[in-house]
Amino acid sequence: MNTPQVSCRSCGERELITILSLGKTPLANALLTLEQLSQKERTFDLDLVFCPSCSLVQITETVPPEELFREYFYLSSFSETMLRHSEENVEELIQSRKLDGNSLVVEIASNDGYLLQYYKRAGVPVLGIEPARNIAQTAVERGIPTICEFFDTDLAQKLVADGQRADIVHANNVLAHVPDLNGFVRGIQSLLKDSGVAVIEVPYVKDMIDRNEFDTIYHEHLCYFSLTALDNLFRRHGLLISDVKRLDIHGGTLRIYARKQDSKQSAIVDKMLAEEDAWVRNDRFYRGFGEGVERLRRELVDTLSRLKTEGKRIAVYGASAKGSTLLNYFGLGSPLLDFVVDRSTVKQGHYTPGTHLPIYSPAVLLNEKPDYVLLLTWNFADEILQQQSEYRKQGGRFIIPIPQVRVV
Ligand SMILES: [Zn+2]
Repeated sequence: MNTPQVSCRSCGERELITILSLGKTPLANALLTLEQLSQKERTFDLDLVFCPSCSLVQITETVPPEELFREYFYLSSFSETMLRHSEENVEELIQSRKLDGNSLVVEIASNDGYLLQYYKRAGVPVLGIEPARNIAQTAVERGIPTICEFFDTDLAQKLVADGQRADIVHANNVLAHVPDLNGFVRGIQSLLKDSGVAVIEVPYVKDMIDRNEFDTIYHEHLCYFSLTALDNLFRRHGLLISDVKRLDIHGGTLRIYARKQDSKQSAIVDKMLAEEDAWVRNDRFYRGFGEGVERLRRELVDTLSRLKTEGKRIAVYGASAKGSTLLNYFGLGSPLLDFVVDRSTVKQGHYTPGTHLPIYSPAVLLNEKPDYVLLLTWNFADEILQQQSEYRKQGGRFIIPIPQVRVV
């Protein structure tokens, strides 16, 4: 194991240990236009390491956020699963925190207002913070007040100076994107009212490893959190994780509740920290993950090659960032795979990064009738299989690659 010349994004430790090297890959969300196909694509190292001091799993390369998030293709409202998940979360919090017209809910990385809309519907004032200009604009058009900025300590202090302090700060699937973790958490601490709570969702590193979800590794995801790593980070800034939930969304998520005062760590938090002790600093545990990914690569490449030899046509569902990591690292593309379909209208008409497959509407599956569809957005498998019942009725089959290759 080599030691990359970087220090831990959370605690500053300099001796980081390599888990998995995915080589040089293009940015996973950098979809290409027809004109861009002939230009050279930029690639960046993708190496996963862990910190033996605070246990944070992270990648070593930092692509500037300005480059990754100012134009963004992922609209949360395209997923029904996400919307249901958000609505339930909001209804529970409005009741338990007794929110009303005098409260304020802030969401960091509020996307198109997919979550805040449910507070607004209930008459609770909201403020979104979303750096992607195209998406912030969509949110504003939907009536969700949105600041088009990256969140940090400075922005938090500006809001507080304007008299805006939050009863709830949501930050879903954004903490992993943040280069300055400490500044971000410090900002949340200042933005919260003394009685406020931060409700934060991150993909859970244990689920990623247990389920072979190596495709969640891409340059936007700088960190892969355990509760232990979060506990270390939040305590450093005077926030205590008072409760934690494990959710099934996005291939396994941790939702933490962090507070300033009068808070006690729940028995569930204590129990989970104790459980993590068994693996969270164990490099054998992380090495096993690398070996599992290699097994998966052989299995999937063999399956697809065999089908191709039999003369089958294979399409792909999901022009997602996950999919980009999987296709590029496994070396899958044309002529093994024919084309990609995706429900997001902003992606259609573009080409996948690195592999240059064309992206069409899912309606194309019924016209073209490929024999198999490789499902790269496996985290929404139930929803997509249901939407594609007609294609499946006509004999089409899906290949789900993760956690193991299976055909349905
Ligand atoms: Zn560390």
